[in-house]
Amino acid sequence: AKGAAMVTAVAYRLAEHSRQIAQTLSEFRLTTEQLLEVKKRMRIEIENGLSKSTQDTATVKMLPTFVQSTPDGSEHGDFLALDLGGTNFRVLLVKIRSGKRRTVEMHNKIYAIPLEVMQGTGEELFDHIVQCISDFLDYMGMKNTRLPLGFTFSFPCRQTSLDAGILVTWTKGFKATDCEGEDVVGLLRDAIKRREEFDLDVVAVVNDTVGTMMTCAYEEPTCEIGLIAGTGSNACYMEEMRNVEMIEGDEGRMCVNMEWGAFGDNGCLDDIRTEYDRAVDDFSLNPGKQRYEKMCSGMYLGEIVRNILIDMTKRGFLFRGQISETLKTRGIFETKFLSQIESLLSVAIMIMAFIVIQVCGAVSHRAAQMCGAGMAAVVDKIRENRGLDHLNITVGVDGTLYKLHPHFSGIMHQTVNELAPKCNVNFLLSEDGSGKGAALITAVGCRLRQELNN
Ligand code: BGC
Ligand code: MG
Repeated sequence: AKGAAMVTAVAYRLAEHSRQIAQTLSEFRLTTEQLLEVKKRMRIEIENGLSKSTQDTATVKMLPTFVQSTPDGSEHGDFLALDLGGTNFRVLLVKIRSGKRRTVEMHNKIYAIPLEVMQGTGEELFDHIVQCISDFLDYMGMKNTRLPLGFTFSFPCRQTSLDAGILVTWTKGFKATDCEGEDVVGLLRDAIKRREEFDLDVVAVVNDTVGTMMTCAYEEPTCEIGLIAGTGSNACYMEEMRNVEMIEGDEGRMCVNMEWGAFGDNGCLDDIRTEYDRAVDDFSLNPGKQRYEKMCSGMYLGEIVRNILIDMTKRGFLFRGQISETLKTRGIFETKFLSQIESLLSVAIMIMAFIVIQVCGAVSHRAAQMCGAGMAAVVDKIRENRGLDHLNITVGVDGTLYKLHPHFSGIMHQTVNELAPKCNVNFLLSEDGSGKGAALITAVGCRLRQELNN
């Protein structure tokens, strides 16, 4: 009888715990109504970012990129590309051949950017970048050629031309001093001069979303949107010039870098954010900023999970109530790991592992839904721009979260379909958008410059 009572007590406690766990995680399950609301609010912020009268204070900045067409296949030449701001820093050599047999040949090398360089002075950061370029040119045996360079710089930049971009604010893990408010192309050119070793012709500064869109558009002309679901989160698309009020002229289109990561920075997502989102934000490098990005990008999902697990441990549902040193460590849950946990079936035998899986699932599910709701706003905006009842469009996508997570892409696609039923949205994985795309944009930039000189 005593045994039976104990079993009942344990069963009762387990049931009570699982009820409370389910309740905590239910905050992450967004209803279709909530998602439609997110879509609607994104649309409002898009309009605020585009129009001259509201753009100053807009959170979604809708930055003009000076890219006015997708590739037409005539692009050709040898280019250098830099890719800064994603999971890895890379230097690339991209050889594009046009004509009947179009080919793109790429060579690249990955370089580490130590934390103290990411968060040191701007001069140190750019000197390090140029040092890596120098190493790459040696490696390729190309020190003496002055190649045109495309700089994929995956941060918000206010561009005044294809080759000038003022860093609005650092995001993700970067925090180098004396860069915000500066033209990053100028900073790069200065660093090249300081080194007095080789010369480069910086032709374009490119957001990774734009490079991704261009790379996919090179193969698939219906691609007019770029999406990154990786360390950070962002999208770009071809907007009608008449709607890009910050730029003169009404003819044609221009690619707009949305910088949608900052969506919610005015509080408009506060009813959806949880206490865990607030904790992640409070202890981040940029509190109060990039709130949407912090709900749906790889850099932060692990942190949300860790915060939930700490809370559940405190409440006695996990790890016998003991918060280990490991769990106290910020950044211990890399998103890579989240992907792996959800992929591993064998661990699921254990109850605790089961709870952890549920937590990871809820957090990444919401991330995919939020991202999908944002994308639904974009495709419907494009459909309305063109006065269509139905739109067929392709989104070029890149990013570790999209590529490696077992469920993210599927849930995101499903959300877009559900929230934008009048659009048929096709997702195309971009192959190395930051390298190839930057080279394609640089090629166009070189051509335009020649035309201007003639
Ligand atoms: C940056 C964007 C970038 C995105 C994806 C964000 O943090 O602000 O410029 O496109 O990350 O890399
Ligand atoms: Mg205009």
